[in-house]
Amino acid sequence: MSAALARTRWSTAEYHSNDDPNTRFVEQILAAQRTGLTCLPDQLGLFTHDYQQLIAGHTASTTEQGQLRQQLLELRRDEWQDLVNLLLKHRAHRHASERLMAHIVAAASLGSEHLWRDLGMQSRDQLRQLLTHNFPSLVQHNDRDMRWKKFFYKQLCEQEGGYVCRSPTCEQCPTYHDCFGDES
Ligand code: SF4
Repeated sequence: MSAALARTRWSTAEYHSNDDPNTRFVEQILAAQRTGLTCLPDQLGLFTHDYQQLIAGHTASTTEQGQLRQQLLELRRDEWQDLVNLLLKHRAHRHASERLMAHIVAAASLGSEHLWRDLGMQSRDQLRQLLTHNFPSLVQHNDRDMRWKKFFYKQLCEQEGGYVCRSPTCEQCPTYHDCFGDES
């Protein structure tokens, strides 16, 4: 799918908004996914009807790796849904596309690399721009600049009451550098 097609569909379906930066973000994510630079499955983490709307009836691009990732996502749907719920609790309520971006970010959070890489962003700064646009209060809450995946899962653990940290404070924690620090 061309970036132009992605732009057209993203901005003319239910997601209409000429000034929505998600149009640009999703172009970049699609291009990165198609060139194997993300951990995202063929449908980017979107439900089939949303993905079909995005590609506007054109033949979906599939790869063996993308299909395998789709199957893995199905196995982790509950975890994916928890992440989606967390993100949407903090959505900006400016654009309908925030719902779809929550689905994509949640799928990328299931990968094993830094989130900015798994999502196909150019840098951690660009990821922050995307998150700030879509889920501003969640970004504000990460006031110690924790690594994003760690931060998301910590929120889920605290919500569920299943606090998993092994230390009373981050400063005393033996795995401090897993949660904070460079993500280049
Ligand atoms: S540094 Fe340790 S205590 Fe702090 S969030 Fe990470 S695991 Fe939990």
